[in-house]
Amino acid sequence: MMVRDPKEPGTDDHRGCGPLIAPLSEQTRPLRQQVFERVRAAGLIPRVQLAKELAVSPASVTTITQELIEAGLIEEVAAPRDGDQGRGRPAVALGVRSGAHLVAGMKLSDREHTAVIVDFSGRLIADDVISRRPGAMSLPELLAAMDTLLTRVCAKAGLTPRDLTAIGLGVPGFVDCEQGMVLWSSVLVERGVALSQAASARLGLPVHVDNDANLVTLAELWFGAGRALSDFAVVTIEHGVGMGFVLNHRIYRGAKGLGMELGHTKVQLDGALCRCGQRGCLEAYVADYALAREATTALNWSHKEGQSINVLLESLYDHAKAGNTAARSIFRRAGRYLAVGLSNVVNLFDPSLIILSGERMRYDYLYAAETLAEMEHLAISTGRPKPPIEIHAWGDLLWAHGAAALALSEVSERLLAPSREIAAQ
Ligand SMILES: [Zn+2]
Repeated sequence: MMVRDPKEPGTDDHRGCGPLIAPLSEQTRPLRQQVFERVRAAGLIPRVQLAKELAVSPASVTTITQELIEAGLIEEVAAPRDGDQGRGRPAVALGVRSGAHLVAGMKLSDREHTAVIVDFSGRLIADDVISRRPGAMSLPELLAAMDTLLTRVCAKAGLTPRDLTAIGLGVPGFVDCEQGMVLWSSVLVERGVALSQAASARLGLPVHVDNDANLVTLAELWFGAGRALSDFAVVTIEHGVGMGFVLNHRIYRGAKGLGMELGHTKVQLDGALCRCGQRGCLEAYVADYALAREATTALNWSHKEGQSINVLLESLYDHAKAGNTAARSIFRRAGRYLAVGLSNVVNLFDPSLIILSGERMRYDYLYAAETLAEMEHLAISTGRPKPPIEIHAWGDLLWAHGAAALALSEVSERLLAPSREIAAQ
């Protein structure tokens, strides 16, 4: 631990004070970026309203939208006026030019690989799913799987990979999104892989990689329940337990591009062994391998080598539904640990909504009424209502949509970056 001996505040007259915000950070996002993002979020919006919402002069909006039209990023669309009943000239609204760019989003997982292609306005063009045998892949195997998936989904859309501008890719595990590095993933044998670089070289397109929990959060932020919320959490339960957090309408990524590892927060000192090597992690009580471990012990089932964990969990769930006390108590116990984890999220972040997502949400015992009551009980009592919890048991395509949103945001950031503005002058 480093102990600093700072000078008394105010003793150095020229140090300045107040946060040192980089000149082009969030607070000073270039206006053309703000204009483009507002048009994209609105779907269709007249110039007058755009100026009003962004609190800028109509003249600035006219100049910037003209630039964006000339760059082929947005277009004018005739929109019927309210109460016009088809008489007179239709009003002109602005929308994103959907054909300007196409991107793919992919999610690689233990069970299956999924992909979507979306246009520049976020509309789905094609999707595809490939089932696979569980287990980690070597990097060449993973790149080959991406290649096959990309070729297939492009063929479905009547496209070739060359028609795409970028790819977003989600993998489970620890991912440094900015560097495109996968530090550890359950789908990859190697550690510390520059996956973004390797995949770009193989596929001939820019590939942006992120943790799959961040991508499902991005999907909620771009397409789902989180579009109008500034601060919310998404907790995923799949092979592991993940979390994504949106802070002021942006994904929070931590100082080193990691963070939000809710699954490895400790809920028991010296507790059950987790696959990260430590003990007492939330994941070691809630994730599918934890449920499988309990099932094989409590119910005296043998987990055969190569037997799918899904088959085992389905069987456990069927037993619980049929009234088997041991099977029920396994889910209930996991649910109680989940309640501890969720109450910690509430106490730390005060989100306006918590979304529970992932395939395991089909196991409703995990979030039975008593689990949610326990979470309420463990969260600090302020007299104010606790955040609502929504269950989104959507499929893997949602995760691929999040990956596509990552690709779309990277493409538009690049196209609208201030350096291009300067370069164009
Ligand atoms: Zn752990």
